[in-house]
Amino acid sequence: MNDCLFCKIIAGEIPSKKVYEDENTYAFWDINPQAPVHVLVVSKQHIPDAAHVEELTDTQLAACIRTCAKVAAEMGLNENGYRIVNNCGEHACQSVKHIHFHVLGGKQLSDRMV
Ligand code: 5GP
Ligand code: ZN
Repeated sequence: MNDCLFCKIIAGEIPSKKVYEDENTYAFWDINPQAPVHVLVVSKQHIPDAAHVEELTDTQLAACIRTCAKVAAEMGLNENGYRIVNNCGEHACQSVKHIHFHVLGGKQLSDRMV
């Protein structure tokens, strides 16, 4: 049995506020937004984190970044910019072990990375 939270969200078993979906990716609002726009983009193919990226095809991997850019454009973020964040593992405080990208924008973000 797959106990992964984001796999359940992709499958519709747990509700989410969907922003975009295609063959390879699913995008939805973060439940605890840290910016006016805070959308999560997940690969439909489950891999735990960026350290396992070799388990994705090039198409699946590229789709993640394409979807981030598409979501950002649809949210009106192209003019002032945005940040794409991927947390990988303990030191990065990754809390959900299904690869995902945070699309953050809609305000001036911090100039610090850590
Ligand atoms: P991480 O810390 O792993 O990079 O990011 C996980 C993100 O998932 C967090 O920003 C957290 O707010 C979000 N999150 C956790 N559980 C849920 C949920 O059930 N629904 C949604 N929409 N977001 C969630
Ligand atoms: Zn998963």
